[in-house]
Amino acid sequence: MTIFSKIIAGEIPCYKIAENDKFFAFLDINPVNWGHTLVVPKQETDYIFDIDDEQLSEMIVFAKKVATAMKEAIPCRKIGVTVLGLEVPHAHIHLVPLQKEGDMDFKHKIDNPDPERMKEICEAISSKLKFEN
Ligand code: AMP
Repeated sequence: MTIFSKIIAGEIPCYKIAENDKFFAFLDINPVNWGHTLVVPKQETDYIFDIDDEQLSEMIVFAKKVATAMKEAIPCRKIGVTVLGLEVPHAHIHLVPLQKEGDMDFKHKIDNPDPERMKEICEAISSKLKFEN
């Protein structure tokens, strides 16, 4: 079981943004910028391009809804999208609010992000989400 599956199962706490029957979104615990969010499929697959076409398409649509809410909640020019997957073997999409290119520099993470601010950002994004289910 990956650490992300444990988060999805509620065994490890997270700043949860959204979930449906297939996908889950939560704040990255070591954000590169405020609002840095991860979108993961509930079904464990290590490499994102091993996910079948239908599920991958649905994952992108789910990520789009999360990104739209992020852009409404956080002042930024765009939401940047990255896939790395070198650390956690459970496919995930990084969504990061961007004012400038350097806002998505994975070598420079926010040092000890304040839990209160993380909670506020989590609630601000969640409150903007519009899901049919
Ligand atoms: P990567 O697999 O290279 O895309 O990186 C994994 C990402 O997951 C990193 O940005 C970590 O900060 C993040 N991460 C690892 N553990 C947790 C956790 N328990 N909660 C939230 N994010 C996490």
